[in-house]
Amino acid sequence: MSKVYIETYGCQMNEYDTEIVRAVLQQDRYDLTDSPAEADVILLNTCSVRENANRKVFGRVHTLRHENNGRNVKIGIIGCMATDFKQRLLDDPHVPVDFIVGPDSYKRLAGIIRDAFENEEKGFDVKLSKHETYEDIYPVRQSGVNAWIAVMRGCNNFCSFCVVPYTRGRERSRSPLSVMNEAKKLANENFSQVTLLGQNVNSYSYDGKDFAYLLNKVSEIDGIERIRFTSPHPKDFPDSLLNTVAENPHVCKHIHLPLQAGNTRVLDMMRRTYTHEEYLDLVDRIRAKCPEIVLTTDIIVGFPSEIDKEFEDTVKIMQAVEFDSAFIFKYSERDGTLAQKKYPNDVPEEKKTERIMRLNELQKEHSLKRNRAHIGRMFEVLIEQEQTKKSDTDIQGRNDGNKLVIIPNNGYHIGEFIQTEITDATAHVLKGKVINHK
Ligand code: SF4
Repeated sequence: MSKVYIETYGCQMNEYDTEIVRAVLQQDRYDLTDSPAEADVILLNTCSVRENANRKVFGRVHTLRHENNGRNVKIGIIGCMATDFKQRLLDDPHVPVDFIVGPDSYKRLAGIIRDAFENEEKGFDVKLSKHETYEDIYPVRQSGVNAWIAVMRGCNNFCSFCVVPYTRGRERSRSPLSVMNEAKKLANENFSQVTLLGQNVNSYSYDGKDFAYLLNKVSEIDGIERIRFTSPHPKDFPDSLLNTVAENPHVCKHIHLPLQAGNTRVLDMMRRTYTHEEYLDLVDRIRAKCPEIVLTTDIIVGFPSEIDKEFEDTVKIMQAVEFDSAFIFKYSERDGTLAQKKYPNDVPEEKKTERIMRLNELQKEHSLKRNRAHIGRMFEVLIEQEQTKKSDTDIQGRNDGNKLVIIPNNGYHIGEFIQTEITDATAHVLKGKVINHK
């Protein structure tokens, strides 16, 4: 039996896809290994959202080729770089890979690997599907408290800076029944939390059933205590969804709400479909229904032609919302996107650096303020790890708001819910003491 080693880059959807790939290969009698040195097949499940994600993989292919020199090891690039670069990747002499397989073609992966061994053929399958959701595949997961469930795939939004619609195709949703069956199995395997995934998860739609419906259905399953979801788009937050987040005790009170930029002209160039004011209105609507909600976001600085005055609009939104945390990136031009075709990447690198440093500073202040407001409050903390990076006498978990909480270990275990009072906070973590042990 050939041994397969898989390395995963990028988003949670790629982590879920790696679990799908494990299942598909095990069904075809491949064995899995955690060591590339032992592997006959090495798969890199890749991300193509920014230039440096690609550079990292190109470097990794060379390292792996070098480390396995003289062994008949097949190296394959799967995931978004396969559908982003396609044939170019296979023909590039600087990227010594044996095959490439896109995110919708994993059911054909075993055959492509076989061909690579039997016919020394450089196989590739980068077709995008309008239907494939892998709902008939039960992923092979590693143990833990949280399990990813991809409820929809692809994206139809075509934000002008983004490659995802080209690398992952058109939106399609799984049946609610298939999602519930997967969640039931997970509950039987002692997963108490599930995170529903989608490139644009809140545009989920199946036979007229929307995302609010799906959240409520999954929350009816015994053993599933917490439900999270990512990544939503601000354009798809009807009242039915906000009511479900606010009122359903199993749905976590955390929303990741990508802003991307604060200026309406820039948002329009990004094709984000909302304005500066509309984003703030949505935040007000969310907080009106759910005052304790934790809000996090994504921001891009230095989108083509963004001037200082327009960048200040991003600062204004951050000051108005005071996000709990934010992922802030420099604009990275992606081949084939609308922005690359229409807008020169004209914001100087130093200007991008200046802006990202300013926003990171500002966000740090807001994260500290938001976290310090938790001191004295009580939360149920779901234990994820029995020690922390810094100490083996503390354990860590997350509260409903997805905030990391460190508490002294008193013989608690992964998967337990611990009633905790928050006693201290930094910009990154909360510290607590145990009040009641369930
Ligand atoms: S919503 Fe926009 S940013 Fe998000 S995956 Fe789709 S195209 Fe990309």
